[in-house]
Amino acid sequence: MTAAGRAEWEDSRRLLQDIRTIAASALGVQERLDRIVTAIAVGMASEVCSIYVRGGDGKLVLTATEGLRPEAVHVTELAVGEGLVGLVAAEAAPVNLPEAASHENFAYRPETGEEAVRSFLGVPLLRTGRVVGVLIVQNALPRLYSEHETETLQTVAMVVAEIAAAYEPPEAAQSYRRPFRLEGRVLNAGLAVGTAFLHEPRLPVQAMVAANASDELARVDDALDRMHRTLDDRFRAADLAGEGEHRDVLNAFRLFAEDRGWLSRIRGAIQGGLSAEGAVARIQEDMRARMRQIPDPFFRERLQELDDLGNRLLHHLAGDIAAPVLDELPPDAVLIAHRMGAAELLDYPAERVRAVLLEEGSPTAHVTIVARALDIPMLGGIGDVVGMMEAGDRVAVDADNGQVFVRPGEEVEGNFLQSMAARDERRAGFAAMRDLPPTSRDGVEIDLNINAGLLIDIGQAANVGAVGVGLYRTEIPFMVRSRFPEVDDQERLYRRALDISEGRKLVFRTLDIGGDKVLPYWRLTEEGNPALGWRALRLALDRPFLLHQQLRAMIRAAAARDLHVMFPMVAEVAEFERAREIFDAEMNRERRSGRDLPVSVSVGAMIEVPALIWQLDALMRRADFVSVGSNDLLQFLFAADRDNQKVAARYDVLSPSVLAMAAHIVDAARRGACPLTFCGEMASRPLEAMALIGLGFRSLSIAPSAVGPVKAMLRSSDLVPLESYVRSLAGLPDRSVRGRLRAYAIDHGIPV
Ligand code: PEP
Ligand code: MG
Repeated sequence: MTAAGRAEWEDSRRLLQDIRTIAASALGVQERLDRIVTAIAVGMASEVCSIYVRGGDGKLVLTATEGLRPEAVHVTELAVGEGLVGLVAAEAAPVNLPEAASHENFAYRPETGEEAVRSFLGVPLLRTGRVVGVLIVQNALPRLYSEHETETLQTVAMVVAEIAAAYEPPEAAQSYRRPFRLEGRVLNAGLAVGTAFLHEPRLPVQAMVAANASDELARVDDALDRMHRTLDDRFRAADLAGEGEHRDVLNAFRLFAEDRGWLSRIRGAIQGGLSAEGAVARIQEDMRARMRQIPDPFFRERLQELDDLGNRLLHHLAGDIAAPVLDELPPDAVLIAHRMGAAELLDYPAERVRAVLLEEGSPTAHVTIVARALDIPMLGGIGDVVGMMEAGDRVAVDADNGQVFVRPGEEVEGNFLQSMAARDERRAGFAAMRDLPPTSRDGVEIDLNINAGLLIDIGQAANVGAVGVGLYRTEIPFMVRSRFPEVDDQERLYRRALDISEGRKLVFRTLDIGGDKVLPYWRLTEEGNPALGWRALRLALDRPFLLHQQLRAMIRAAAARDLHVMFPMVAEVAEFERAREIFDAEMNRERRSGRDLPVSVSVGAMIEVPALIWQLDALMRRADFVSVGSNDLLQFLFAADRDNQKVAARYDVLSPSVLAMAAHIVDAARRGACPLTFCGEMASRPLEAMALIGLGFRSLSIAPSAVGPVKAMLRSSDLVPLESYVRSLAGLPDRSVRGRLRAYAIDHGIPV
């Protein structure tokens, strides 16, 4: 380091220490902020230093200033994205401009007297990944601030953010006490009532700078050591001891903890003068800023793991990891977080967690997989849930329908508890039916299977009394790993799946990736129309080594057992034939190698693309079975994106056109004597299942929780009159026949 560099470093260290002293003082929030702006203005030789804090309505309010007019404090406010201050908040990144007024975002606020200054350096106040405010310095003369100055202001901003987070605009408290409702995406279904607990992954950092780098390096090593040991203990915890993808998730997490790049950046920051905590927090903030720039959820997920690790390391640097949380955790906690890592969820005792509400979250996120393994209801994608809720709020979570009732009031909470009790009672009724045969009143047996995506789902077949798994979506294990699983790995996984099935039928569906389901280690080019893009079987046929490997693993796993495999998104018979050739080639290869083979194989096609409907006879001659994937089939039939809420519910699945198409498939299967199943989600609803059975489907694959209700419907139905009634609806001009079907069910005493 040059002499000038050293001097710069000394200056910023001194400034940090001053800020720290003010931050730790017993003064009120406002006074501390007032003193801090003065200290920064002096320390950075700037005419102006201001702090904007985000209020309850999300606006950035000028809260403290040195150099701007004092009467603008609590008056000047900017929305996120408005003005340069709003730009810093929107991008969650520094903005450095020699001539502020010439930037297109510049918004002049006369009350501030800002015309006296020309340059602008603003950095976000970040706390647990959220922008809680903006810190700026300005100078009278135009100048571009150096990298070192930007770094210094960012480091100072970390201390300021802790204070700003405690700042409460006086009017906010009132408007926040009212009950309100939020909506989110169902990540794990269930109902819960409990007390909000804000998951604060990040500990406030007390000492940002340290005099002795080698001491700090030793502290980090010691904390890392303890972190590894605690992780090992957590993962051995009894409620996660069973098999499942959550184990892969947790193992991947442990590998992350050894990420060299992450550790060396922390060590580098310590060498630069930060304390161990300061270094971890600093690297974390960089990572969070990067996370915000990355649209790809899978890469975000990876960075999230490092963020999660950073939090853990901070806790270990502070001492015992769990104690502070456990003291305050209510016995019926509803955890609220922007996002959460799998290991973070495991830090909470599962018996005290009723539900989890996240601002982010996705069905394949690691934390979701762990929540499903622990059976904790979870919703994701809930706007500003962290900002809108307060610790201690009562919350009723309907994770079946994606609804959250905050401060529901006694009456609503009472109703909610009643419906939870009624639901438990219904469930008990269905459980009692578990061993009754799935036959109609007139004695026709229907195969009820379940759909599975995780190993833990497979075990549900036995629990709910299903004959087997009609659809095992194999992509999730691929999505939670950091690289493509080898054949051996896959074989182990599929063998576990078959073991868990205990002799019940299990239908493996080959990889349905591509489009929006991207593997983190396999970059695909962006597609404008992913659902219609290079996905599933198309991708598998163009990159056949993947399919070869997957089929080889399945064949090996099913040695001396029955093997059922089906291909997704078959658009034409020729595609099915090519896939089948690959399967046959793998069977021959295994045969030649002298390994044990499956005792029987059946290779099927999913009907998910309308074009295939016009080749059914040819398909049925070649496939050992077919299965209707209505989730995709109907989105293509109606040209209505299944994930686009504006159109997803626009057309009724119980429309005459759907019934006519389904009847056409049933007739073709009968003609071709080809076993037929229906595995789309619509079959999980009793009324829809009644229509499908009425059309002639004799095998359904549905959500595990639907087996009871669908069986109850079936056992009250007479199929002879039902068939002729449902078939008669297929030719109607109506947009929906739901009303008629419901009336039929009511007239015939069928519970739907
Ligand atoms: C379907 O499309 O109906 C189906 C079962 O497959 P997925 O939902 O996995 O696309
Ligand atoms: Mg599909």
